[in-house]
Amino acid sequence: MAEIVIRNVRKEFGSFTAVQSSSFKVEDGEFFMLLGPSGCGKTTTLRMIAGLELPTSGEILIGGEDVARKPASQRDIAFVFQMFALYPHLNVRKNIAYPLVSQGMSRAEVRRKVEEAARILGIEDILDRPVGGLSGGDRQRVALGRAIVRDPACFLMDEPLGALDAEFRERMAEELRALHDRMGATTIYVTHDQLEAMQMGDKIVVMNHGVIEQFGAPQDIYDKPATLFVAEFIGSPPMNFLRFHGALPPGATQATLHHVPLGLPALREAFEGDMVYGIRPEHVRLSDAAPYRGEVLATEYLGTTQVVTLATANGEVKARIPADQPARVGESVGLDFDGRTTTVFDARSGRALR
Ligand code: ATP
Repeated sequence: MAEIVIRNVRKEFGSFTAVQSSSFKVEDGEFFMLLGPSGCGKTTTLRMIAGLELPTSGEILIGGEDVARKPASQRDIAFVFQMFALYPHLNVRKNIAYPLVSQGMSRAEVRRKVEEAARILGIEDILDRPVGGLSGGDRQRVALGRAIVRDPACFLMDEPLGALDAEFRERMAEELRALHDRMGATTIYVTHDQLEAMQMGDKIVVMNHGVIEQFGAPQDIYDKPATLFVAEFIGSPPMNFLRFHGALPPGATQATLHHVPLGLPALREAFEGDMVYGIRPEHVRLSDAAPYRGEVLATEYLGTTQVVTLATANGEVKARIPADQPARVGESVGLDFDGRTTTVFDARSGRALR
């Protein structure tokens, strides 16, 4: 079993706290994403799990054993970086074999394992090529080969696709996910790309300023963001936010904005004060009859859908509607909000009211 448990882990660099007390659990075999903007502490978290950074406090359990103070070499993990550090003077075979040779494994066993890794990655035909002339995608496959050849219980990956161009990135992301599904090793993957996290991850931890904002399955995070930060960070175009002041009793399923009722998911507790009503662009409908009005500022054609930007009394709202639905710049239209898919936030704390 290679489940990974992070318990009250905290990291300070001098007087600066890079990671506030954090806890989460990665189940055995899960593809787990650490997501957040630059500087949020995701790499530091991964480096602590890898044994490359010592936590200031807290426990890190891999397969039930607290390894927080053990060296990296005593953890059953392989680390894959963005900058795939291959040995340029060695060919592909020797690059992949390197960790096994340095363990003192027999030549026949090394050969068998390298060829198996190459087969899994589909790079058998380049085994004897020098790494110097390889494409970015192949270099990354070789770097992965060097990680999987050790057959570790866990993979830790820090933006492994960051150096690839967009087209390769998408293909490698699919390959990586398929590789994981075949091998089943617990994987923690760091990215700042919300789309990558949503597409690849079984679970996502969203971090901001060293704090875990939310932890859950991609769809839960998308549908039920816990904070304004998560709501804005996940989804493209991002969730619309309409600010209002009011009082909502428990169980309220409607708020009123400029005398227009907006649907709400039922709240457990009453709330009074400044609120932010959040709705995803795909849940805003345009209909002539709706009383909440907006003026079309711009339209962006995306193939099967279009994103329409509207000016309303509460600021700009984006609606993602079918491409063939007419929307002309300058026109006044009604906006309908689907209440089941909205979130209301306490404007002061940024936390979702549930
Ligand atoms: P990025 O994607 O830019 O790498 P990140 O979310 O991975 O961002 P970290 O690299 O974990 O962020 O860094 C978190 C914060 O800790 C940053 O403000 C960074 O400057 C700081 N930090 C990281 N390592 C050190 C260090 N060795 N000494 C001092 N500060 C550090």
